Amino acid sequence: MRTPLVAANWKMNMTVEGARSLVYAMSAGLREIPVVEKVLCPPFPALLAVHALLAGSDLGLGAQNMHWEEKGAFTGEVSPPMVKELCSYVILGHSERRSLFAETDETVNRKVRAAEKFDLTPIFCVGETLQEYESGRTSEVVTRQIGRGLADVGAEFGARIVVAYEPVWAIGTGRASTVENASDVIGGVIRPALKGLFGQPASEAIRVLYGGSVTVANAAEYFTAGEIDGALVGGASLKPADFVGIARAAAPA
Ligand code: PEP
Repeated sequence: MRTPLVAANWKMNMTVEGARSLVYAMSAGLREIPVVEKVLCPPFPALLAVHALLAGSDLGLGAQNMHWEEKGAFTGEVSPPMVKELCSYVILGHSERRSLFAETDETVNRKVRAAEKFDLTPIFCVGETLQEYESGRTSEVVTRQIGRGLADVGAEFGARIVVAYEPVWAIGTGRASTVENASDVIGGVIRPALKGLFGQPASEAIRVLYGGSVTVANAAEYFTAGEIDGALVGGASLKPADFVGIARAAAPA
């Protein structure tokens, strides 16, 4: 049995004060759902404040990105040890990073290997664009992203990785994937690719989330489908009652 996980990707939203208010508004509700792992991913400047607020709770903290180098002349970047001081998770390979900041499978892989080195759990995102989806290339694209993005990663660490299937056409669009499509890609493409890389036991331990226009209204459908171990939530994670509702929906019946 894999523990369900819901992760909140706040993206470039929330000042430090806004982040504090959001945590106050959702933490009591989230703490009432101990069977689901909950991870909040605020922007970098708010990590320290949120870290302090989460102390002693079962709520996890994640960064939204990091560089792969440990330190040095990389103006504007944040290193794995800096993230590790505050977080146990880091989102890597989000489609916004890939499309807007020119991240490639190779740079994402460097970051994943840095996460292994510094003992951070990646929430590793994969997913096809609308054009790739419409031309029937989902399997090819997602298989490539996994093969290259998770290359040279040990099976022991591999078993800890969280994968998020996020079709690009579903992110922030209100056009969520059908449960059938998400289940088919996760069960038919992602899990076999993980098995090829890490072997059966490790691949079965890996949580695979769905992300893309998850709302409090549609969340339960995904979680009852069997293949989907939780959700990576963008827009709805900024609404406290909605994110709590999504976490509640992820709890096994
Ligand atoms: C995301 O940014 O990872 C995401 C899934 O966004 P949204 O829930 O807003 O589609």
